[in-house]
Amino acid sequence: MDEAQFLSKSQVWQLARAVDDLNLPIMCYGLRVDFMGELFPGSAALLALADEMREVRTICHCGRKATMVVRKDARGRVVTGGDQVQIGGNESYVSLCRRHWRAAMEEDEPPLV
Ligand SMILES: [Zn+2]
Repeated sequence: MDEAQFLSKSQVWQLARAVDDLNLPIMCYGLRVDFMGELFPGSAALLALADEMREVRTICHCGRKATMVVRKDARGRVVTGGDQVQIGGNESYVSLCRRHWRAAMEEDEPPLV
């Protein structure tokens, strides 16, 4: 199941029932968080119910592990708000480490040091 972040909670439960009752092996692939740093509902349900989890390692431009994603508009500017799911736009997504995601999102809080 690709793009599993877009599943609903009840769909994830249906998959869990298929695994338990029909003995089907089901593998899901998807993002953990959206461009705002929030869990997708499907990802939240999968994190709660999955028997096993593996992280696909993505690297930020600085070399750190990329755990976050920013949405960019057609002109390449970082988008800091909007709907979690946007269909048919010209936006693109870039994987970043949390520090560079915070910088890109122009977090209001000053750094701790
Ligand atoms: Zn980085």
